Order: sequence, then structure tokens, then C-alpha cells
Amino acid sequence: MSSVLIRNVTAVTMNEAREILDHVDLRVEGQRIAAITPTGEEARAEAPDRPRAKPGTVIDGANMVAIPGLINAHTHAAMVLLRGYADDMALEPWLEEMIWPTESRIVAEDVYWGTMLATVEMLKSGTTTLCDMYHFFESAARAMRDAKIRGVPSGVLLGFLPEPERRLRQAMDFCKEWNGAAEGRITVMLAPHALYTCSREILEKFVEAAADLGVKLHTHLAETEAEVRRVQQEYGRHPVEAMDEIGMFDVGLVAAHCVHVTDEHIEIFREKKVGVAHNPTSNMKLASGSAPVQKMLQRGVTVGVATDGAASNNNLSMVEEMHLAALLDKVFSKDPTAVSAYSALEMATRNGARALGLQDQVGQLKEGMKADIVLFDFDKPHLCPRHNVVSHLVYSAMGSDVDTVLVDGEILLHKGKLTQLDEQEIMARASEAARRITTAE
Ligand SMILES: [Zn+2]
Repeated sequence: MSSVLIRNVTAVTMNEAREILDHVDLRVEGQRIAAITPTGEEARAEAPDRPRAKPGTVIDGANMVAIPGLINAHTHAAMVLLRGYADDMALEPWLEEMIWPTESRIVAEDVYWGTMLATVEMLKSGTTTLCDMYHFFESAARAMRDAKIRGVPSGVLLGFLPEPERRLRQAMDFCKEWNGAAEGRITVMLAPHALYTCSREILEKFVEAAADLGVKLHTHLAETEAEVRRVQQEYGRHPVEAMDEIGMFDVGLVAAHCVHVTDEHIEIFREKKVGVAHNPTSNMKLASGSAPVQKMLQRGVTVGVATDGAASNNNLSMVEEMHLAALLDKVFSKDPTAVSAYSALEMATRNGARALGLQDQVGQLKEGMKADIVLFDFDKPHLCPRHNVVSHLVYSAMGSDVDTVLVDGEILLHKGKLTQLDEQEIMARASEAARRITTAE
């Protein structure tokens, strides 16, 4: 079993007691965190006649701050291929005129390299788990497995594509094959894209399938006012009420956006344990509005943070996203106490884990949890002086401050360099795919 010792680090644990521990050693054995002890204590406690545990890899944590790996609760990873391709448009024409026609040229191999590129970007900025929704989900899952990131790919369906029933069966087969794959790093969901892209009939079938397979649903909900109007016309009710009526909340659901929701809807989210994925940048860029995050948190709704796809962001930095999550609700609520720095970090770690049903595995630095750990290098002018490390992580840090990343106890990034992936090769392959899909015949 491999072991890693991170010595003399400041650990922001995100545990129940909200402990931030200075000068501790984090010992990782195999896939899990084995011990968190004051620096040097473990060595002193060992009897002189007992053989010492093998130290394995030792990382100097001085000037570093450790957090649980960031959790991107909603993205379309391979959309990095369309990064910067169509900006400054409203959601509907953006999707219908630019994104969907281009996506029709995408093949499985493109999604593999797009997801690989997204993974490189995410690991380098401290994200260790992504909840993904994209075409050719099997290629996305293969990329996540090969890149060794923790992933929740979803078998997605856009109802206007031909043969929705066959696509649903395909998504179900994918779930059966991939749930628990890559030594448990991959778990899956079923993803009917949204109320306005899927028929009621197919949504009901998704609910049934999710219940049969014991997987959650992942969808878009109440993102824009136009969506609310459209659903209102079709269902005679608000999108939240329509989903509730269809039974989508009863099988466990991750809902991206939830911008246009009332107090009553928030109460439904709490009661039905809906996991909300808040996408501040995407909501700003597409002028969708702002989700009432503070209200949802106060009522006990589980809200995670997410980047959405790179075509509406345009990067996948969860560090930036935490920053904006803390700011955006202040602007909309005109309340400077809304979404504190700690809340933003909590949403991006522990809450994200709960939204995805991974709370027993990740989201905290705690003995027995999976060792998904990110070290930020605090030896930087913009992180000095060190009055408050959480404030610095949310308001001052950048993704490029990430020095080291472990997923499942394995070091995937060290001193800012990927240890296992060929970044140049991945960028070249993704650029090639992007060129082909955006060049119309
Ligand atoms: Zn989305």
C-alpha cells in the first residue's frame, strides 16, 4: 500500500467542528487519510524498539494550506472544445444557433480529448471531483478513469434528438457498467437535460429508471425567466412544481442553477433533499439572474458550487467560482453578510459532496475519508499577511496557487506539474478536435 506524509501543513478540515489546524501532519495510507496529528507527534509516540512505519513519499507542507479537494457540482467538461467560440449571447439563441449545431459534429473521440483537457485544467486548479453531463458520456467516463480524477458522469438525454427511448436504454446500460468503476472513483447519474428539452413521458421513464438503478438524476432547473415562461405554458405551473409533480425529486436529484425560485420552492428543495448546483459565472455571463443562495443555505438546502461548461464561463476554476459565489449573492441581496467566505468554501467541498451523495467519502479532511487533498502554496504576495486562511482561499487565491493534488491517495499534481498526464499532448489533441467541429463543411 502506498503512503504519503504531508508534513507541517495548515489543514482546513471542513469538519463538523470547523477546525483549522496549524502545524499538523497528514498521513495518507492507500486511498485514505490515515491520521491527522500535530507535527512530529506520531514519530515521538513510536516506541524506539518498534519498527517505524514506512514514510513513503514525504511532502513538505510548510507555507502550504491543505483543503479537501474542490467539487465541481455541475459541468459539461468536454465543452472546453467550444471555449470562446460563442460569447455574449442569451441562453436560447446561444444554445439553438451556436452550440447545438456545432455539437452535432462531435464524435466520441472528441469528447474523450475534451474531457481530458477539462481534467487537466481542473486538477491544476484544485478540483478533484466533477459532476458531468455531456454527449458520449462513455468517452467522458473513460477520460475520467484514465486521468484518475473522481467523476460523476451522467447518461444524458436531450429529448429532441431521434430515438429518445433507445438513448435512455443506452444511458441505463452505461450506468450499470460504470457505477463504482475505477476503484470506486466513478459513480453515475441519469441526466434528462431539462424540462424544456425532454417530454413529460420520457422524464417519467427517467424517474423509473433512476429508481430501478438506484442512481440520482442530474438536470437543469429554473435557469432563466424564458424557461419558466415556457414550462408555465406547457405544464401550467412553475418548473420546480412540474418536476415535483413528475416525481423527479423523489429519486434524488442534482439541480443546476435554481435561479428563479420562490420561498415555497426552496421549502420543496429542503424537504425533498434536492442538491442544488450554484453556477455564479454562467448565470452572470448568460444574464440568467442570481440564485438566492443565502436563503437556500439558511433553510438547510444543500447547495454546491459549479462552473457549468467552459462555453458559458469560460474556465473551469472552482477557486474563481467560490470567489464569485461569495460575491454574487451580496450584490443581489444587498447584504454584505450573505454567503461568507467559509460558506463559499463549504459549498465547494462538503456541501458539494453531499449534493452528489459522496459525503461519506470526500468533502472533509478527516481520518478514514478518501484522500482527495489539495495544497495551496501560501508563499505568495497576494496571500500575505496570513490573517485568515479561509478568507484568502476565497477572496485572494487563484487556481494557479494550487501546488499539489491527491486523488484517492495518489499524487496527480506536484509543484504545479501533472505527474501522470502529458499536458501538451492533451492540448494538441483537444485543439485538433475543436478545429474540426467548428469548421462547417
Ligand atoms: Zn449546464
